Amino acid sequence: MSQLTLHSFTSVYGPVQSWRFGRSLGIDPIGPVSICSFNCAYCQLGEIEYRTNDRQLLIPTDQIQRELQAFDPWDVDVITLSGSGEPTLALNLGEILTMVKAMTAKPVVVLTNGTLLANPFVQQELAIADFVSVKFDAISTNQLNRVNRPLPKIDLVNLWASLLQFRQKYPGRLGIQTMMLTPWTEIEQAEYITLMAELQPDEIQLNTPTRPKPLQHHLDARGNHTATPDYPVQFLKPVQPEVLQMFADRVESSLTIPVSSPPLDR
Ligand code: SF4
Repeated sequence: MSQLTLHSFTSVYGPVQSWRFGRSLGIDPIGPVSICSFNCAYCQLGEIEYRTNDRQLLIPTDQIQRELQAFDPWDVDVITLSGSGEPTLALNLGEILTMVKAMTAKPVVVLTNGTLLANPFVQQELAIADFVSVKFDAISTNQLNRVNRPLPKIDLVNLWASLLQFRQKYPGRLGIQTMMLTPWTEIEQAEYITLMAELQPDEIQLNTPTRPKPLQHHLDARGNHTATPDYPVQFLKPVQPEVLQMFADRVESSLTIPVSSPPLDR
């Protein structure tokens, strides 16, 4: 991590345009070093620099508050906690959410990989958010290891059990975000639909990587970094939009749950 990156870090960034949430102002509670319990093969942050499942105090809440105040009157559709890794790893997550809700009436979204949902404190803190979008990319251990590359102690059975438990308790809107790196087989699609029927999220977002993956962490990767950034990247082959749309249609017609996928011309 260069001195330049350390000094240019701001905890509030954007707004960025998101096909899922509209104009979104980002809050990064993680900091200049990317930290996550996953190291997803498609991660926009590049290879995760520090992998952990332990919560820590990373960016002070008053710093975030100061930087958020500068965006008053928040001409955006949502305020999203995401940034340089897994936001539930921030020990002050609940404090940050409470502070944001007190400052603005904008809906607050948290994007999470769900690996800390077994922690009752994390569940309580997330309950402050209006919308929690949980990553669920894998229906088998092989897929989890290939796509999300989790820490060794994370397993799919526990991830699923804690997600079901969170669904029962969470009073806000629960979304599932699923990234497809390759088209899924008939069996995988049917299994996914069975799981979603059990979970009953409020909505499902199906996605495929459409932007190149940086080889190293760059702070501008938190937002909509361009298709041709001036740093080394890896191009991932996305699933054809028509294939994604067919799966989205199948999921939606099987369940009474809205399913969205990126627009075909994206
Ligand atoms: S969970 Fe998110 S931040 Fe973590 S590695 Fe995956 S895409 Fe990157």
